[in-house]
Amino acid sequence: MSNQESAMASETLCFLHELPKMRSNEGSSADSGDQGTTNVFDPSTGEVLTKVHLCGREEVDKAVKTAQAAFPAWSAKSPEERAALLRRWADAIEQKQQVVAQLEALDVGKAIINAEGFDIPFGVACIRYYADLAVPAEYDVPLSVSDMDARVHRTPYGPCGFIFPWNFPFDLLMWNVSPALAAGNTIVVKPSMVTPLSTIYVCQLAEKAGIPSGVVNVVIGDGASVGAALAEHTGIKRMSFTGSTPVGKGIAEACGRNLVPCKLELGGKGAAVVFSDVDIEDTANKLAAALTLNTGQVCCTATRWIVDESIYDQFVEGTSAAFQRIRIGPSLSRETQMGPLTSRSQLQKVLGYLDKGKQQGAAILAEGEMRKEEEKSRGYFVKPVLLTGSEENICCAEEIFGPVAFLLKFKRESDAIEIVNHSQYGLANSVWSRDLTRANRVAERLVAGNNWINAHNVFAYGLPYGGVNHSGMGGGVNSPETFYDYLRNQTIARPL
Ligand code: NAD
Repeated sequence: MSNQESAMASETLCFLHELPKMRSNEGSSADSGDQGTTNVFDPSTGEVLTKVHLCGREEVDKAVKTAQAAFPAWSAKSPEERAALLRRWADAIEQKQQVVAQLEALDVGKAIINAEGFDIPFGVACIRYYADLAVPAEYDVPLSVSDMDARVHRTPYGPCGFIFPWNFPFDLLMWNVSPALAAGNTIVVKPSMVTPLSTIYVCQLAEKAGIPSGVVNVVIGDGASVGAALAEHTGIKRMSFTGSTPVGKGIAEACGRNLVPCKLELGGKGAAVVFSDVDIEDTANKLAAALTLNTGQVCCTATRWIVDESIYDQFVEGTSAAFQRIRIGPSLSRETQMGPLTSRSQLQKVLGYLDKGKQQGAAILAEGEMRKEEEKSRGYFVKPVLLTGSEENICCAEEIFGPVAFLLKFKRESDAIEIVNHSQYGLANSVWSRDLTRANRVAERLVAGNNWINAHNVFAYGLPYGGVNHSGMGGGVNSPETFYDYLRNQTIARPL
């Protein structure tokens, strides 16, 4: 038995063992047609963890029809009834949090301490947040129009489609489907084929918690066939996509053809602007922690560090020390702070960027350290790296999706703002300064959905999150507005 296996709960092992045998066609299942199976890998070892059955276009059609059939009864339930069922789902996930955390850590390569401490509790809290919002929500808004009895009636759309990437499978699922279900929609979910495990497990728990069969549907498969079939399906009444910008544009086109509202949460190349009045060591530590969270596979993380030239050398020293302290290791080890990258292809992509960046003149300023075990293993491990060079360098311009940051200097505040805004993306930045007047002034001028002050990667329910430009459109997550996004408006009016 490997170290990874000995750290697994018996129920986690049992689920992984049973998964290839699961063949059910109804509702919240790891559905299967005759499309064969795909291997799911443990990124810490490069070994096969389990297999999952694949769907094809026919199973997508079947899942959408199942969601259509379940819609009338689910949408007819009162908000209180739906909220009660969603809370039972949250309780069921919480009871199995050890299994969900282990599946997430094993599948993504995420450090178990992060899965347990952040991903799972944050996702469970999301279901409860939207269950609580749904009950007092305004489903009828009276209109004061002269000589009319008029109101806007808010009603769910019907079956909603969701396509997710592989970096935060559980939290992205919770963020996106919780408001949709609480509002009375039914759902068809396509997780990434690379990381389907937590989605299959928790969607099975939905039905066990009492959410009626057919309300929650999962289809497993690749993007070009299964993802495209879902985005193009005329039975889908609202679409939500989280993933890369090029694929997001294709989803928007498919939704445009069907005239279906579409929410896109896409890539990013976030920046951190660091002024000279900060505590240098503390800021370097916090940015190193943000960069290495989930091994840098975080859409909103800061990968361009724009630092006042007067503290540049000290900042590099602080980063180097912070990188050396980060413990790289297998996902299930409690010592691990940064696990491997999620897939072999992501490893190749990150290493490819580093090679191209160096060919274009980038220099390494600081690097982390890896133990011999990880260097020798077949896992997809990388070290955190801080580069510098030209602003046009590929590693500064493009999203790498790994623990690689690019350091640039600035002299004047306006130069820092210009550098940050010199990007096709607009997801998340941060400004670091003790002078809060300046920090707020700069934050207002950075073009992005989210600009944090003296912190990076800040999430809370009630704090809206979304992107602009090539980072997304059509609404975000984590706020009451997101709940209302899943209700369409219809005007009801009677002349008096
Ligand atoms: P990806 O775009 O390659 O894939 C995302 C999902 O889309 C997967 O389920 C994939 O199977 C599916 N897909 C691929 N081609 C498709 C097609 N033609 N039609 C329909 N579906 C298709 O992205 P990825 O590599 O899985 O994830 C990394 C990307 O996700 C990064 O760019 C990252 O920034 C982004 N991301 C954004 C956010 C956000 O909130 N803005 C959050 C997480 C990840």
